[in-house]
Amino acid sequence: MTRNIVAKRLKVNGIVQGVGFRPFVFQLARKYSLKGVVANTSSGVSIHIEGLAESVSSFEADLANQAPPLAYIVDIAGQTAKVGQYSDFAIVKSQGNSQMSTLISPDVSVCDDCLAELLDPANRRFHYPFINCTNCGPRYTIIDDIPYDRPKTSMRHFSMCHACQAEYDEPTNRRFHAQPNACDDCGPHVGLFDNRKNVIDDPNPIGKAVRLLKRGNILAIKGLGGYHLASDAGNSDAVRRLRRRKNREEKPFALMSADLATIRGYADVSRQEEQLLSSIRRPIVLLRKKTPNSISDQVAPRNNYFGVMLPYTPLHYLLLQHDFTALVMTSGNLSEEPISIDNEDAFNRLGGIADYFLIHDRDIYLRSDDSIVRHAAGAQRFIRRSRGFVPIPIFLKEEVPPILACGAELKNTICVTKQDKAFLSQHIGDLENIATFDFFQLTVEHLKRILDIDPEILACDMHPDYMSSQFAATQAEIPKIQIQHHHAHVVSCMAEHKLDGDVIGLAFDGTGYGPDDTVWGGEILLASSYEFKRAGHLATVAMPGGAAAIKQPWRMAVSYLQATFGDDFQDLDLPMLREIEVEKVTILRQMMSQKVNSPLTSSLGRLFDGVAALCGIRNQVNFEGQAAMEFEMLAAESTGQVYDFQWEPGENCRLLTAPIIEGVVADMQRRVAVAEISAKFHRTLIQLFAEFSDFIRRDTGLNRVVLSGGCFQNATLLSGLVQALRDKKFEVFTHQQVPANDGGISLGQAVVAAAAVAGR
Ligand code: ZN
Ligand code: ZN
Ligand code: FE
Repeated sequence: MTRNIVAKRLKVNGIVQGVGFRPFVFQLARKYSLKGVVANTSSGVSIHIEGLAESVSSFEADLANQAPPLAYIVDIAGQTAKVGQYSDFAIVKSQGNSQMSTLISPDVSVCDDCLAELLDPANRRFHYPFINCTNCGPRYTIIDDIPYDRPKTSMRHFSMCHACQAEYDEPTNRRFHAQPNACDDCGPHVGLFDNRKNVIDDPNPIGKAVRLLKRGNILAIKGLGGYHLASDAGNSDAVRRLRRRKNREEKPFALMSADLATIRGYADVSRQEEQLLSSIRRPIVLLRKKTPNSISDQVAPRNNYFGVMLPYTPLHYLLLQHDFTALVMTSGNLSEEPISIDNEDAFNRLGGIADYFLIHDRDIYLRSDDSIVRHAAGAQRFIRRSRGFVPIPIFLKEEVPPILACGAELKNTICVTKQDKAFLSQHIGDLENIATFDFFQLTVEHLKRILDIDPEILACDMHPDYMSSQFAATQAEIPKIQIQHHHAHVVSCMAEHKLDGDVIGLAFDGTGYGPDDTVWGGEILLASSYEFKRAGHLATVAMPGGAAAIKQPWRMAVSYLQATFGDDFQDLDLPMLREIEVEKVTILRQMMSQKVNSPLTSSLGRLFDGVAALCGIRNQVNFEGQAAMEFEMLAAESTGQVYDFQWEPGENCRLLTAPIIEGVVADMQRRVAVAEISAKFHRTLIQLFAEFSDFIRRDTGLNRVVLSGGCFQNATLLSGLVQALRDKKFEVFTHQQVPANDGGISLGQAVVAAAAVAGR
């Protein structure tokens, strides 16, 4: 009987080092009685296997499908090899002497095996809040430099006890080379303090913390990527106190609940949302509220959604064992500053907010906020991409030079490229204060170091006042490329989908620098990664007061009324005009007619704000986009009705807003319900943009439409427009890997810069 023995060499590319991949391969080879070796190389993991042909095929299938949870396989290249002299299967020392280009894993939630040990009284790590293994725990936030080894992490201050070291050294152990491995004898510990740094002496600090939360106290709790501020979400007094002390009026607070069953008590959870919630990345997921519910109405006022996450550190699990429906777990920061990671800094900055501090002595080197996602239009959509996802790269369609893209101003992230990978940073925040700008610079240095990159090109926004652009300007020795905001938006989505050539790009957001001295934001572009041209844009109106018009949507309403009805608009019978003093309106009109601090804008975000204010949603906002968001949430089911719309044909078409405003005003005067107006307004935009895309297609032959910009966080607009475009047989591309908002823009900047260098 002849036995068919074959040999194969496999090269596995992706996040495959420091995630238990070699032990996994070792066990898989044993399972199928294969011989050979596995080794780390500079580009991934290399495997030689030999044995029965069918066993080799089974091995290959399992390799791709059963990889450890933290592994992120990009591709597996296989070729037949010579049957060698192997008598067994072995893990061998790393090959090659070139610098490892290891991809570092993000921080992920505690795994089921560790969780079982955590709750097992017989286990030596029973209730130890820092239990972890190769499949789980901290990574990105505790790394200071590469290669990813314990001395380069904040675990360097703890030397392993014999029991931990033995696990670390044993290839078949779940903790083989688990850099943060620790136990109660040798690892980090928690401590409980009051807000004056007095230690609260209690043999069980976590149990004591639970009792304090139950009594309505606010606790600062050190987590994986930074501090949270926590309170009992069922206690309105506590939540209100937290709002007041944190100076956060209405922006929703995130919740954390022990399990899915508890979450289902107060929110709807679809199958897809369940998957998002339970993924090891543990993002905050937006879930539709159930009514009534037992969560304080202070948590997410005037919002149809709760942002909810499951516990992700062992410490969270221990806290949530004690029948809270949910804890508020909001970022530990002062309004818009970065979250605290350092214990000293936390006492200083959060001492006026938190009553008590539950801290620990494992340092966080790089903060990483909770990620926020939702399920919309059939896919996962990022609102913020941070903890759990960073630094997984976005894979580009080709290799590019090393580029540092500095991002925009709000919701800033940066992006660094290396070969065919683009690394987006964690959420940095709004670059409006020194603390956030410091964090921006720290992140630039950190990413350069851990990715081992020296950028040859800088990419930044065209806006000269953005702190990110000013940072680029100070880097005198590196050539820089300024990129138009909406071009970067469109290309960020193209990059996700590896698109070449020209597309129709719909870029809709609040604000972006336009090279024609107007503020852009309702742009239909003909774009490639290399260049773009405006095919159309919303007709411009004044933004009286500039930034003030963003904070006070009634100003935009007045501007649209003026543009639509001229000076007669003050005679209109509108609730909004009755609310605003006549003098204020008069001053605004003068500003606009004399062109004082009244830049022109084509922004769709401002149109949303203006219409929302016209409908009496609100005249002031507490955070950007609030009026538009509340307007969307009110929308009734669409009846298919639309307002009149039209565009002026030409080289760069103006999409007229006046007919839409006329329709909205007429409905308001007829006392049509705002829910109906909102539905009709959304439907109008969807139809307008779909038909305009069709019009552009007739001219250009382009059949691919790319959607980007913060307005696509509006799920009604996103899903409606995707459907309408598909009905017209367009190929539609939307964001799934990076946010549609400015948090994804650095990716587009990097790819535009790469195209500029390539000259195509
Ligand atoms: Zn684990
Ligand atoms: Zn130990
Ligand atoms: Fe934008």
